[in-house]
Amino acid sequence: MRTLPGYSPGMRTQVGIVGAGPAGLTLAHLLHLEGIESVILEDRSREYVEQRVRAGVLEQGTVDLLVAAGVGDRLRREGIVHGGIELRFGGQGHRIPMSDLTGGRAITIYGQQEVVKDLIAARLSYDGPLLFEVAEVAVHDLDTPRPSITYVHNGRRGELECDVIAGCDGFRGVCRDSIPPGVLQLHERVYPFGWLGILATVAPSTEELIYAYHERGFALHSLRSPKLSRLYLQVDPYEPIEDWPDERIWEELHRRFEREGWTLHEGPIIEKGITAMRSFVAEPMHYGSLYLAGDAAHVVPATGAKGLNVAVHDVKVLAEGLVEWYGSGATELLESYSDTCLRRVWRVQDFSNFMTTLLHRLDVDAFEDRLQRARLEYVCSSEAAARSLAENYVGLEKV
Ligand SMILES: Cc1cc2nc3c(=O)[nH]c(=O)nc-3n(C[C@H](O)[C@H](O)[C@H](O)COP(=O)(O)OP(=O)(O)OC[C@H]3O[C@@H](n4cnc5c(N)ncnc54)[C@H](O)[C@@H]3O)c2cc1C
Repeated sequence: MRTLPGYSPGMRTQVGIVGAGPAGLTLAHLLHLEGIESVILEDRSREYVEQRVRAGVLEQGTVDLLVAAGVGDRLRREGIVHGGIELRFGGQGHRIPMSDLTGGRAITIYGQQEVVKDLIAARLSYDGPLLFEVAEVAVHDLDTPRPSITYVHNGRRGELECDVIAGCDGFRGVCRDSIPPGVLQLHERVYPFGWLGILATVAPSTEELIYAYHERGFALHSLRSPKLSRLYLQVDPYEPIEDWPDERIWEELHRRFEREGWTLHEGPIIEKGITAMRSFVAEPMHYGSLYLAGDAAHVVPATGAKGLNVAVHDVKVLAEGLVEWYGSGATELLESYSDTCLRRVWRVQDFSNFMTTLLHRLDVDAFEDRLQRARLEYVCSSEAAARSLAENYVGLEKV
């Protein structure tokens, strides 16, 4: 075995996975079910990844996949199924009955950190290799059939030889940047606003998600459980979070959600942070022996609630390609991995951009404001327009 200077050999696996987010953990699990070995390298601690509060809306297809893969028991018990959302503007609420418009499909509210906990528990139950707190991760020989990953774990340098590497290391990971210059085409749109998100220990003031358009900016009332509310405000992405004491956050939420006969309940804020809104796609999602999946290859503004879902779809496609390759040597599915994923990625980019520009205060001019209002009224009055929103929101079966 060839070894990089200073690194001890030791591990060899079929699929080396960088990152234990939803993409990396789901991929490892799907491969395990098919008898394909993998090793996951994660730079954060187990506690950190299990507590990281992020997405919470699972599409029907994501739920179906997790259940079919045997990691959906708690999700089915504790997940909250929603058949509609409310669009609120001009002091009025308008329900989009998603399930009625999509033949019974729905979304499930279940925190990303709960999905991650379930996948880690499943991985550890069969002693699947999963190394937390690795440092100095680097990928090598990507243009050969014997790539490797070097890393430091517990102060010792290690090298992992693999057949393929899955770059599931998120937007700020190392895999994407290891592809030689000129290979990737990068597409990016940075929106001039961010989301201030809070997690509050108070029963949700609504049974279904409320997306509010207001002249002061967008607001979203989401939830994580019957006792935990998740709320967001459109803010300046460069504003320091210190400028937003809890009282100011609640005051602003009350204003943007104002509707006669409806009350927003307040409770202790246990977490808050500001996230920039961006769209990003790197294509192709494949170079040599490296396959990018999830946020490592694409990011969407959270308004469409798609980031986690499209990450899970990527690794489903990748797992199918690897199963075919290991089973028969056929490479068709792996070769079409990037094209297959990118069709959904761009559909999701378009939907996320649609939701973002439909619901945020854009501050372009009065003409744009009137167009935006006309679009909102159309979605709430035309069944065809509402159905289009609904089928994208619950997740298209085929793209
Ligand atoms: C604040 C926030 C709020 C969000 N809210 C929503 C939402 O409401 N709805 C929605 O659908 N989506 C939301 N998203 C997006 C969603 O969380 C992501 O799309 C999803 O996490 C993608 O999963 P992933 O596994 O591809 O990447 P990640 O979850 O980012 O996982 C990547 C993993 O790789 C690890 N890693 C990074 N670099 C290295 C390295 N060098 N070596 C080893 N490991 C490494 C990271 O620690 C991480 O564990 C949100 C994202 C953020 C940041």
